Amino acid sequence: MSKAPLTWDEYFMLQAMMASTRSKDPSTKVGSVIVDQKNHQISMGYNGFVAGIDESQLPWSKDLNEGLVNTKYAYVVHAEANAILHAPASLEGARCYVTLFPCNECAKLMASKGIKEVIYLSDKHLNRDHNVAAKKIFDLTGIEYRQFEISEGLLNKIDDHLKKLISDL
Ligand SMILES: [Zn+2]
Repeated sequence: MSKAPLTWDEYFMLQAMMASTRSKDPSTKVGSVIVDQKNHQISMGYNGFVAGIDESQLPWSKDLNEGLVNTKYAYVVHAEANAILHAPASLEGARCYVTLFPCNECAKLMASKGIKEVIYLSDKHLNRDHNVAAKKIFDLTGIEYRQFEISEGLLNKIDDHLKKLISDL
């Protein structure tokens, strides 16, 4: 990298963004990574259907008028929930990077596991019920949360770096 290296926030949010590329959800691709107090990545996840299930039998519809059973909402596990489920170590005191502000269901899991900080990219569901409830859970359990701000030039820096790596082959 030509100039200053990435900050840990930049590095891990980019990891969460990379994790989101694995999602097959046609409308909302979310990624998450969980990091310990020494900046070691513990786990990652992205939103997707229940692991090991026959996905061809499940809908991606978001239309609740069709009934919950006929929508993705009945079968998708959120990115943060997957990261928590697959974590091989304790999450006590950990930070969670996620590309979309968590819902209240994921907030419950985070609080139960002792996650201490949430850094998010988008808060596009601001003020929806599940968003308000998640913030209430965070506030009541002392989980801090803050929005990540992409510094100008970050994506160019990554682009330059990758091109340099490839040109050195
Ligand atoms: Zn969630």
